[in-house]
Amino acid sequence: MQQPWHTLTVDAIRTRLGGDDGGLTDVEAAARLSRDGYNELPQADTLSPWQILVAQFSNVLILILLVAVALSAALGEVLESVVILIIVLFAIGLGFAQEYRAERAMEALRRMAAPRARVIRGGREQALPARELVPGDLILLAVGDRVPADARLCEAANLQANEAALTGESVPVTKQVEPLPDTELGVGDRVNLVYSGTDIVSGRGRGIVVGTGLGSEFGRVTDLLAGVEQQPTPLQRNLDRLGRVLALAAGVVVALIVVLGLLRGEPLLEMILFGIALAVAVVPEALPAVVTVSLAIGVQRLVKRHALVRRLPTVETLGSTSVICSDKTGTLTRDEMTLRAIWADGVITTVSGSGYAPEGELRDPAELPGQRALVEELLRAATLCSDARLDADDSGWTLLGDPTEGALVVAAAKAGLHKEALEQQAPRIDEIPFSSERKRMTTLHRCDGETVAHAKGAVEEILQTCGRIRTRRGTEPLTDAGRDAIDRAAEALAQQALRVLAIASKAGVTDRDDAETDMVLLGLVGMIDPPRREARAAIANCARAGIRPIMITGDHPETARAIAGELGILRHGRVLVGRDLRAMSQEQLDAVVADIEVYARVSPADKLRVVKAWQRRGHVCAMTGDGVNDAPALKRADIGVAMGITGTDVSREAADMTLTDDNFASIVGAVEEGRGIFANIKKYLMYLLSSNIGEIGLMAAATLAGLPLPLSAVQLLYVNLATDGLPALALGLDPPEPDLMQRPPRDPESGIFTPPVVALMLVGGLWSAGVNVVLFVHALNSGQALGLAPEAVLARAMTMTFVALVLIQFFKAYNFRSDRHSVLMRPFANRWLNLAIAWELALLLAILHVPFLAEAFGAWRLAPGDWLLVLAAAVSIVPVLEATKWFLRRAVSVETQRPGG
Ligand code: ATP
Repeated sequence: MQQPWHTLTVDAIRTRLGGDDGGLTDVEAAARLSRDGYNELPQADTLSPWQILVAQFSNVLILILLVAVALSAALGEVLESVVILIIVLFAIGLGFAQEYRAERAMEALRRMAAPRARVIRGGREQALPARELVPGDLILLAVGDRVPADARLCEAANLQANEAALTGESVPVTKQVEPLPDTELGVGDRVNLVYSGTDIVSGRGRGIVVGTGLGSEFGRVTDLLAGVEQQPTPLQRNLDRLGRVLALAAGVVVALIVVLGLLRGEPLLEMILFGIALAVAVVPEALPAVVTVSLAIGVQRLVKRHALVRRLPTVETLGSTSVICSDKTGTLTRDEMTLRAIWADGVITTVSGSGYAPEGELRDPAELPGQRALVEELLRAATLCSDARLDADDSGWTLLGDPTEGALVVAAAKAGLHKEALEQQAPRIDEIPFSSERKRMTTLHRCDGETVAHAKGAVEEILQTCGRIRTRRGTEPLTDAGRDAIDRAAEALAQQALRVLAIASKAGVTDRDDAETDMVLLGLVGMIDPPRREARAAIANCARAGIRPIMITGDHPETARAIAGELGILRHGRVLVGRDLRAMSQEQLDAVVADIEVYARVSPADKLRVVKAWQRRGHVCAMTGDGVNDAPALKRADIGVAMGITGTDVSREAADMTLTDDNFASIVGAVEEGRGIFANIKKYLMYLLSSNIGEIGLMAAATLAGLPLPLSAVQLLYVNLATDGLPALALGLDPPEPDLMQRPPRDPESGIFTPPVVALMLVGGLWSAGVNVVLFVHALNSGQALGLAPEAVLARAMTMTFVALVLIQFFKAYNFRSDRHSVLMRPFANRWLNLAIAWELALLLAILHVPFLAEAFGAWRLAPGDWLLVLAAAVSIVPVLEATKWFLRRAVSVETQRPGG
């Protein structure tokens, strides 16, 4: 029996697993990977192509159709049964193709959303997919990380983990490095181990991987990876319900038609076959599946717009987003900080240069004696109190770490103060890390035999810790007048859209608690973070689309105001400061939330209240976040948006969507895509249901009128499965309507069947049924007048009706590309639809003119006069739908002119 990991010293672990401070070598890691396998749990829900294909046969529709094939063969109609079989295969192929695409889309997503881990191998730090970790790997952990594998800690600085996912205990566990002698400790008590699937909530550390994949504690308790969650979306649930109601209604009508046919003396088996065809034609059994496929394909399109979505309902919600609350730094701005100004003892030194290259100079206008020394002391303190590092490679200077700190390190280098050299003189011995709540950071250093503290952070926070100020004359007490002057200086810098930080130091520190009291203020720095170019356009887009963009930032209110003004976010509303927000009750906030366009100096906890307030006003709210403490707000938001580059694993786990480029414009792009996807599902459904209404309406009317059946089983199946299929699919890929982002967001309550959609669907379906009945009757009469034999009369009339029905479907497909715009607006913009229709037309001509097919479909060779009549009947659907849209447009514009909203 091996000693448990927690009882061993780090050295003993190294002996057992190999590796040193430089980690494993790449060769060793590769060998272990092939020996131990990937660090992952078996996937719950990946379908192989075979499974997808087999699943097609469990579809009731397909089974019924196969019965129809057998039935017609039994009736001796071999040709008919072959044709039905071909139609069935066509339906299977179509279903397979769609589901296969959807499945691949979801799988690609799973791969992209796969977690990464920071690991040291061969002495080099690298970011790898977490699945490639092997036992013995040396991993790095920092606040916000999800632990990628079980690891024995060899370094822990204020390291705490939330292990609720594993132990159910939600209080964070403080970690240590020392071995624990008790061999019987429970999972939660082995505090020198961190476990796969748990979250680092503070501090940082290093660990040696001891368990991966199924060998981890998490792997032992859950043997399946949750993967991409799949639950029915609201739309799918609605359609499921609707589908069942329609199926029932259709069943009644089909039964009626069959019974009436039998009463009229039609043969039983043929009526059953016909009943099957009719049922298949009218029962919209595929409704929820259609939505799944469209949403899944939408997910794929979102990826191209830099948005990863994990669950299908998100795609649906995106389209109705009405408020986007966004962080400032990095999302609306570029997060490329450059120090521009240094304020020390009332004098401003400007800093030139751009980017991270330490090239540029510091200039103060007055060149006062002693000023340069003040500025250098400030830069020295700021650099020592930073974790960021500069790196030079072939492509120039790059920054490792937080850009705010990077700006300080670069500015110091411009003054000839290099971080590595400073750190050698004053090595860091302890730190109180930065957090968005504290808004400041303090480090302790050993320098000339004493302990010195350096702090940097938000001006108000640092001022609170200061009792003295450094001036050209030396150190002086900080008076109230002095504090006011500093506030005004900070405000003046912030008004120029600069991020302002205060810097302070203290010598002779006794311990951590002592560090942040009675510090000496060294001065202020102002750094510029230019707005992202695309953000302005995206915000203008929001305004046109009826979406409210809101800025939420930890930054100074004046900085926030200046940048929000520049971007066009701050228009008629106001700026609210976190302190005032916290003083309000939720009811008070609900009352004013619509007026507030910028929140400044807020903490992550405040974001939750903002989301709630908007939601209580009936809005669908998107909220961005990157830190551990943003998780509750991300979870609560209708669309929680995490950052793919700078965000923490914890925030990504809590979010519905992750931006791969951290860019505000991508949120707006995703909303647009969401609207487009929803609109296409609407087009698709409108088309399919309207077609079904047309088909069953025709059959029911003919039966009730005592006419012969206007379509044969084969014809009906063909129209439904072959003709409707491809154009419907093509509608699902329709390009967005040009005014998609010039309408207000969809009311999430209104669902897909809005009055215009229902009106168009009914009008299209009923007109198609009516025209075809009239055409059928006319064809019967004119056939008799021509003196044709009775079977020929019927065959001709059925062929005319069949062709007219198919053509009406084609016209409808183009008309239903929009529920408000004329069909004449960019009629052929959908390439897929054009191709689908061209293919279907070719098939139709083949059915009519290829002798073997003509026989199977009972097709009559139509005379030119018949063709004219058929075309006229089919085209008539266009003006009818146009007129309906015209009325609907008028009705809607009258409605939107009403005051209020
Ligand atoms: P956003 O929410 O828009 O991303 P932010 O990045 O400005 O805003 P925080 O990162 O919470 O928000 O920063 C809040 C404040 O804390 C900043 O305005 C700055 O004064 C201070 N600050 C930021 N980074 C650091 C840091 N590394 N060390 C010390 N103080 C910092």
